[in-house]
Formats: sequence, structure tokens, C-alpha cells
Amino acid sequence: MRKGFCVLRAFGSAAKTRSMKQAWTTFAARPVPRYTSYPTAADFAPDVAEAQAREWAASVAVDEPISVYIHVPFCEKLCFYCGCATSVPNGYGRIAAYLETLHEEIDLWSDALGTHAGMSQLHFGGGTPNALAPEDFGQLVEHARIAFGRRADLQVAVEIDPRTLTPDFIDAMAAAGVTRVSFGVQTLSSKVQEAVGRIQPRELLVDGIERLRATGITAINMDLMYGLPYQTVEDVVEAAHFAADMGTARVSLFGYAHVPWFAKHQSAIDEAALPGLESRFQQAEAGAATLVNAGFHAIGLDHFAAPGDSLTRAARNGTLHRNFQGYTDDPCDTLVGIGATSISQFRQGYVQNLKARPLWRAAVEGKHLPSERGIALTDDDRLRARAIEKLMCQLWVDADATCKEMGAAPGALDDALETARFLQSAGLCRIDGNIVSVPKEARLLLRTVAQCFDGRYKPAEARHAKAV
Ligand code: SF4
Repeated sequence: MRKGFCVLRAFGSAAKTRSMKQAWTTFAARPVPRYTSYPTAADFAPDVAEAQAREWAASVAVDEPISVYIHVPFCEKLCFYCGCATSVPNGYGRIAAYLETLHEEIDLWSDALGTHAGMSQLHFGGGTPNALAPEDFGQLVEHARIAFGRRADLQVAVEIDPRTLTPDFIDAMAAAGVTRVSFGVQTLSSKVQEAVGRIQPRELLVDGIERLRATGITAINMDLMYGLPYQTVEDVVEAAHFAADMGTARVSLFGYAHVPWFAKHQSAIDEAALPGLESRFQQAEAGAATLVNAGFHAIGLDHFAAPGDSLTRAARNGTLHRNFQGYTDDPCDTLVGIGATSISQFRQGYVQNLKARPLWRAAVEGKHLPSERGIALTDDDRLRARAIEKLMCQLWVDADATCKEMGAAPGALDDALETARFLQSAGLCRIDGNIVSVPKEARLLLRTVAQCFDGRYKPAEARHAKAV
């Protein structure tokens, strides 16, 4: 690893950053979904719940592999910027009680699924999965392996809070066969870290990564952010260099979404210190340019992958997907979400678990799948979901070819092409025949173009984050 560097070396000075086109300003300020699913969770309703979840789970074919997501909604301390479903446990008692219910829910889903081809992906997210005691983590992985069956190519990924990562937890992950770890880095600036209530010196991050590598866990992802209070272009560039210098496999560069009416603890953030739209655009652009200059392959909206990473291969061979974990090379149609608030995905639709933990626990203890709300997909949803996924993954979509692929009538996406024409005049996309493409310089507004294919979008919906 390189010892010292100039944070401006790859991007030049802040003065040289590319500005956002004037015509894009209005679009950049509009709320749009992240399109990690279509329809989005905003369209889930209580008329789709346990009965559908059971029916859909039972229809998974015997030769079909599945993915599993386990949610651990606990953190030692809440970071002010966080929008995740998580809480401070105040002692291990609440975590232990939650774990007990997780084990029971694993058995419920295992029974509901019946015979299938086994688990090919197991993802732990949160919250902070390393809030679990090392032995509890190991037992949870083992239980999931027994209940869902282990495929030879099983990938186990864990999101980690570097501040609370202990040598014992690293050993537990290595023993449990963890193949990939996502490190929440966000920023290296101590001023920004202080402003968001998350202090983690560079040495702590380096030490954690080196320890992981020493145990054989070599695929390290990093989450970085822009748009945080007091953040500058130089901060984002510094973090991007750090990711490159540490040999990171994948980097996600997310914009901070300030929605204190939705995530109450965000009100601890000083709004006056938040960068404006233009600064956010420049930070995102500078971070992306630094990563690409360092050799990363730009993936979709906000991901970057090293040349040898499986995400880069998936992007090159057209097998990239987008699901609740963001961009993925996971080809499974079935994703079982376990834990309070988790979302499961089936060919037929989506179901989300109860959010209130006491209700979730009561449902599981009563031997019910704890599904609270969801949506059954119509043929039109499937068509639009495919078009949106293609656009979000490859930055272009052939509307006619997608209609053909999904068995829809020719012209079924004409309304989307019509809406896209309006964006074309602002330079956000190009339309050649039936192909809508997003130029690389408009990548940050990709969701705005994807929204043209959204047949359920409600302009008044303010719950989504701004496009930039
Ligand atoms: S950012 Fe991560 S560690 Fe911080 S509160 Fe959110 S889930 Fe917890």
C-alpha cells in the first residue's frame, strides 16, 4: 500500500471538476426511487402477505437455487446519516432474544420452501451483523446451511462496521466460510466523521482489512459516501484513493439522502453544513473519476468493481442484476429475507416482514411466516421491471426487444419512450429507434431516466431520495 499521496493527484483541483448542466438541475432535485426492485416497496400493500408468501415459496422448483438475506438490526451507536432499519440494543439481551426468533424463522421458511437446489448466496446486512457474538454468528451460518442446504459454490457476504470488528469475529467469519466482507468506510475526513457521529481513523480500517486478508477473506468491498455535512470534493477523492490503494474488490459510492422526516436521527445533522446540489454532483463525479482512473470498472449508477471481480465479468457478459442489495451477479429468482423488515422476492412478487419487532416475534412464535405486506406482479410489472433493470445495469435498453423477451405486445413500452423524449431534449438520454441509452456523463441521473418506464410512479411521493 502506498504510504502518502496527494488527494488531488488523479482528479486535479476542485476547480477543475465538471459542473452539472443547467438543464439537469430541476431533475437532480426531484425524488426518484432507487429501483432496487420494481414495483418499489412504496407499492407494497397488506392484501399480499403470509398466504401468498407460502404459496410462492412452495412453488420454488426442486432444481432452483435460492439466495438468503438475514437482517441484524442492531448498532452500538446510530450514525446520524443512517437510513437503515436499526436500533441500539443497550446490552446483549435484546440481540439474544432476536437471534432466537431468527433461528425459528429460518426453520419456518425452510419448511415453506420444501425441496429446492440449495442456497447459493447468504448475505448478512443490517444494522451491524458484527453486533452478534462470534459464536452466535457461526451458529446462525451453520443453521442456515443445514436448513436451506449448501451448494458447492455458496457465497457468504457480511456487512461490517469496522469500529466494532474484533479479531474473534474475524476468526468466526473465516471459520464460517465467509467469502466477502463489505466495509462501511463512508469518508476519511475527521471533520465529516465528527459531524455524522461516526469516528473511525484510517489506521483502524487498514488494520481490519489486513486482519481479514490474513484469515483468507480477500474480497473486500467498501461503501463510500458523498454529500455528507462539511464534505468536499477532496474528501471524496481521498476516500476513493484509499479504496484503490487497499486493493478493494468493489466500491459503492452513495449520495447521502437527507430525509429527517423519515429517519428521525438525521435531524442531528446540521442542514447548513450540507453541500448543495452542484457540490454533490461534483463530489460524485470526482469520486467516480478517481475510481475509474485507478482501474475500476464503472457499474450502473454507483458501483465500481476491480477488473477481476465477478461483478465486472457479469457487467461485461450481460448477466448483471439489481436487487435489494444493489448490483449483483446473483442469478437467483428467489431471495428469502429473514428478520424484521426483510423483503423476500419470488417470481410471483414481493413480501416484506413485519417491521415492529414484537409483532414479528409474535408471528414467528405462532408459527406464521411474518410477512406483513407485499405485491403480486402483473405482466405489465414484469415487463417494466425488466426494462428498468436493463437500463439500471447497462445504461441502455431496447424497448422492442424487451417486449419480445417478456412476451408483451409490440409497443407496450411506447409510453416510456414518449416520456424519455422529454428527457432527451435535456441531454439526459438518447433515443435511437427503440433504444433508450444514458450517456456516461448523465449516469448520476440514471434513475430519472429509469422512471420513464415506471408505470406506478406517483410524482407526489416525497419518500424517495433526490436523484443526485
Ligand atoms: S450506518 Fe451502519 S453502523 Fe451506522 S447506524 Fe447505520 S447501520 Fe448502524
